[in-house]
Amino acid sequence: MAEKLLEIRNLKKYYGKGDSEVKALDDVSFDVYKGEMLVLLGNSGCGKSTLLNIIGGMDSPTSGQVLLNGTDITSYKDRELTDYRKEKIGFIFQFYNLLPDLTALENVRMSLPKKDSEHLSEKTLELVGLGDQKMHQYPSQMSGGEQQRVSIARALVKNAEIILCDEPTGALDDKTGRKILELLQDIVRKQGQTMVIVTHTTPIASMANRVITLRDGKIQKEVVNEHPVDAKDIVW
Ligand code: ADP
Ligand code: MG
Repeated sequence: MAEKLLEIRNLKKYYGKGDSEVKALDDVSFDVYKGEMLVLLGNSGCGKSTLLNIIGGMDSPTSGQVLLNGTDITSYKDRELTDYRKEKIGFIFQFYNLLPDLTALENVRMSLPKKDSEHLSEKTLELVGLGDQKMHQYPSQMSGGEQQRVSIARALVKNAEIILCDEPTGALDDKTGRKILELLQDIVRKQGQTMVIVTHTTPIASMANRVITLRDGKIQKEVVNEHPVDAKDIVW
């Protein structure tokens, strides 16, 4: 039996009141298992980012629980939540969210607490394909794919419990996007990293171990892929 890392229990997120009320999440419950790649699939506006932001401790639910290793993070105070985000979560955004005034290496080092983090950061940048001079460049000097690699290194370097990716290929052309998916799949397969990827691109779901489809803030279906496709073979 796979070990549960994350338990999402009856999660609701409502915006507004009365006629203008939006149920971004309407009673969502599921588990995430250690070492799996889970894809959350659904059309724009179905609640994917809301869900990921709550799991990542960047937003709070209207009601419901998010338990990481049995601890409910929705009961955390600000300080605990900040530590949770720093220590337990790696977040990969559609538009990379790198700091423009820092080099690739400095962006990655930022996510580590220690002063002596340079070596580990360099190693991680090499792992994502940005060795040598690349790591000393600024985001504006890099392609979209390279910037996303920096953001992957930033998430990876801190040895997070879980990596959350919100439309990680959304800003990239198909070929570059596929390379990024290969890297993400490699990280799960070789390092046993747990990863949740949010996307509206259906073919991407074929590379996951499990796919949960969302619709209008609810879970529509859940499918286990007995044979996940290699990311390099995905076409869209
Ligand atoms: P997705 O990421 O799947 O596109 P979101 O989680 O961004 O969807 O949004 C889900 C729903 O919640 C949408 O109807 C969106 O308009 C609404 N929503 C998201 N954030 C807010 C907000 N801050 N205020 C009001 N409505 C919001
Ligand atoms: Mg979104």
